[in-house]
Amino acid sequence: MKKISLIGSTGSIGKQTLDIARAHPDDISVRGLAAGGRSLEELTQQVKTFNPEVVSVPTEKDAAALKDLLGGHAGKTRITSGEAGLIEVATVDGIDTLVTGVVGFLGVKPTYEAIKKGTTIALANKETLVAAGCVIMPLAKKHNSKIVPVDSEHSAIFQSLSGFATRDIESIWLTGSGGPFRTWTIEAMNNATIDDALKHPNWSMGPKITIDSATMMNKGLEIIEAHWLFDLPPEQIEVLIHPQSILHSAVQFVDGSVIGQLGVPDMRLPIHYALFHPDRVSSARVPRLDLTEISKLTFEKPDYEKFRCLKIAKEIAAEDNTLACVLNAANEVIVEAFLNGAIKFHTIPEYIYLVLERHKATSNPTLDDILESDRWARQEAEALVGTRV
Ligand code: MG
Repeated sequence: MKKISLIGSTGSIGKQTLDIARAHPDDISVRGLAAGGRSLEELTQQVKTFNPEVVSVPTEKDAAALKDLLGGHAGKTRITSGEAGLIEVATVDGIDTLVTGVVGFLGVKPTYEAIKKGTTIALANKETLVAAGCVIMPLAKKHNSKIVPVDSEHSAIFQSLSGFATRDIESIWLTGSGGPFRTWTIEAMNNATIDDALKHPNWSMGPKITIDSATMMNKGLEIIEAHWLFDLPPEQIEVLIHPQSILHSAVQFVDGSVIGQLGVPDMRLPIHYALFHPDRVSSARVPRLDLTEISKLTFEKPDYEKFRCLKIAKEIAAEDNTLACVLNAANEVIVEAFLNGAIKFHTIPEYIYLVLERHKATSNPTLDDILESDRWARQEAEALVGTRV
């Protein structure tokens, strides 16, 4: 029986994780759940189904509302709140794996604390490695905590690398669908609406990552994530546009062999793999791939001039300082401003660039340096999108 905790349980990754847990009641026990305050009813159902030891919500008010919703069903589940609650869920005694399904920088601290206990991290929160990879990776090594990626591309690389060493790698091919604007002209893309940007061709995901896919910042953040996870310089990480999202990524080895992982575009596949790693466990929930039905897989080079966010992130991947943290924080604020209708799509990279330009980077940052850079970048970005709409 694997004991897991899940932060971000009502988000896209969280719901799919629990879908797998529901399908494997004898193999997975859910000991902790944390969710945002917007889906308390759904969280109530999850608590009733899984009876975790502890559940956490953002505020004390949310905690009181959850208690009311649970009525007599709270059982032995402790209800907590705030950052301390999130950390409590991440560090429940005796868990094997923490699934980090939260979006954004919020994932850094709970992941940090879980690593200190030697817990395996099923990492869906890429922002943790983007912002704090230089702190997280050495910490994981020190505490013998395994980081198993849930991001589909990184899961593919992780699986392809099984049995091989970093020195065997010539390059990794990080695939991306190209998002909804792959075939659009720059002019059309500049005037894209929120609805246009939210229409991802292949993957069903939350709004923040869907906008990141439209700007291709998502692929840029994934370059930085891969750099930390696989200990590779960005020159060895190539982005490959693959509109069908069937080859989830691949590794080219020094002898010219390429090993990749294929599957249907369904996040339950990498989640299932991360939950059961290192075992392969039969999954009835994951649809099977029929290559004869797809018949054609195509590949293109990315357009760095059209997707400026991708270009900015690729440049920053080479810097092991606080710039990646600032990139991540600025992107979070600016994407939210776009989703709220405050700014136009084409200004997203412009605002990010302005924040980066103003940052005085710290080399070899500590966790405190990273927290401070994150705070600073949010403030700068908020001031910018507030004044230059
Ligand atoms: Mg991905």
